[in-house]
This record gives sequence, C-alpha cells and structure tokens, in this order.
Amino acid sequence: MVKAEGVHKSFGAAHILKGIDLEVAPREVFCLIGPSGSGKSTFLRCINHLEQISAGRLSVDGELVGYRQKGDKLYELKDSEVALKRRDIGMVFQRFNLFPHMTAIENVMEAPVQVKRESKAVARARATQLLDRVGLSDKANSYPSQLSGGQQQRVAIARALAMEPKLMLFDEPTSALDPELVGDVLDVMRGLAEDGMTMIVVTHEMGFAREVGDALVFMDDGVVVESGHPRDVLTNPQHDRTKSFLSKVL
Ligand code: ATP
Ligand code: MG
Repeated sequence: MVKAEGVHKSFGAAHILKGIDLEVAPREVFCLIGPSGSGKSTFLRCINHLEQISAGRLSVDGELVGYRQKGDKLYELKDSEVALKRRDIGMVFQRFNLFPHMTAIENVMEAPVQVKRESKAVARARATQLLDRVGLSDKANSYPSQLSGGQQQRVAIARALAMEPKLMLFDEPTSALDPELVGDVLDVMRGLAEDGMTMIVVTHEMGFAREVGDALVFMDDGVVVESGHPRDVLTNPQHDRTKSFLSKVL
C-alpha cells in the first residue's frame, strides 16, 4: 500500500529524512516509533502530500506521491491532482483540529459535502454511522468545546473515515490525552485494524504496538534503524540505539 525507497527530505540545509526504505502491506497496522525529532511526522506528511520529498521514490497504492511518471520522466502533479489523491488518505493528528464552530456530526459531514459534493442526507446518514462506530452517537450535536479530548479525537477519526480512505495515518493520536482517555481512542483504532484498514501509526503506546501492530519500525535521526514484528523488536531489539530508546519508554 505504501512503498518508500531511499526517501530523503531536507528543509533548506537541514537533512531530516536520510534514505527511508520501507513497505506497508494492505490491511497492515504499521507502527512507527523513535525519539523526538527523528522525522516520524515529516515522513507521514510526505505520504500525505503535505511535504514534497527531496529524493527517492514514494508511492501509495502503486502511484507515485506528488509526481506522474511518463516514460522515464517525472512530472510534478498539479494542486488539483494532489487534492484528489489526498482524499484517499485519512490523517489524525496529536491535536484534534476539529472545526470549533461545527457540531460533531457537522465536522464529520463537512468533507464529503464540500469536497465530494455528497448530498447532506447521504453525508448525515454515514456520519451518524461513523459516530456510532466511535462510540459517540449521543454526542452528535455537541460542539468540540463540549467534548473531552478523547471524544474530540474520536470525532477526528470519524471525520477522517468519512472520506472512505484506503489508508489512515495517525500521528501520536493519544499523546495529548489524559491517561484515562487514551483507552477509548486505542479501542477505536483496534476496531479499525480488525476491519482491515491499512494504518500507519506513530505512537508511544508500546502496548498497542505489541498487541495490534503487524510491523514496527524504529526510526532515529532520519533513518530506519530496526524493523520487524512488534513482539520481536520490543522484546529483543538488536541495535543499541533501539535498546536505549526502549529502555526510556517501556
Ligand atoms: P516528535 O516525536 O517530537 O513529534 P518527529 O520524529 O515527528 O518528532 P519531525 O516533526 O518529523 O520529528 O521533525 C524532524 C526534524 O525536522 C526536526 O528537527 C524539525 O525541527 C525538522 N522540521 C520539521 N518540519 C520542518 C519545517 N517545515 N522546516 C524546517 N524544519 C523542519
Ligand atoms: Mg512528530
């Protein structure tokens, strides 16, 4: 579903991603861990067209991100083409970024109505189902300010799902939450995984990675240091950098 081959990203003189190679299979829950500043968010942002890579190849569902290939030449995609591709990728951030002036259900309906030009009736029906799926049927008409952080994050997940993405990116979705609210959000993510959603999850929740993850990558300083099955990497890390990181977070 996602393939990175020698992906580099620089911001001016700052070389942040230094040759990332990895592959995410369809229906896989792919967990990404690593110290602050190692480039995890930058990598997710590259997948989601929020940043353009500086070198290498990155593809989602067999199509290059940001470029179209003709013969052996690459052409940059137009903004309208990028917008079309971004519809297929849902992203959930550490901060929930809901529209504050809209109710939960209006937040979930917004993109299908505005971007896909769905009728409000169709969008409302699916938004109702999605809020039910994230356990918030009774909060459909609440505004974000009336919801807990965990509830807001579940609305944000429902909002991303409303576009029927083929890939979901989670960037530390629980790290801004009070500890007692983390479980509900992880449960929703676990449900998504069971339904076969392809997910890349940047997380510090090692329990989630171990129980739900199919693959785990440890990234440091812009490179993949170690990867494998979460159980193997977490219980038997091979590299000193992985060991040192895990000793701090486990
Ligand atoms: P954290 O765990 O703290 O979220 P991270 O692994 O997600 O860290 P990134 O946010 O990807 O790290 O940042 C990696 C590096 O890239 C940092 O040094 C950051 O300052 C730098 N960086 C990120 N975005 C930009 C930008 N737009 N311009 C310049 N530097 C940037
Ligand atoms: Mg980050």
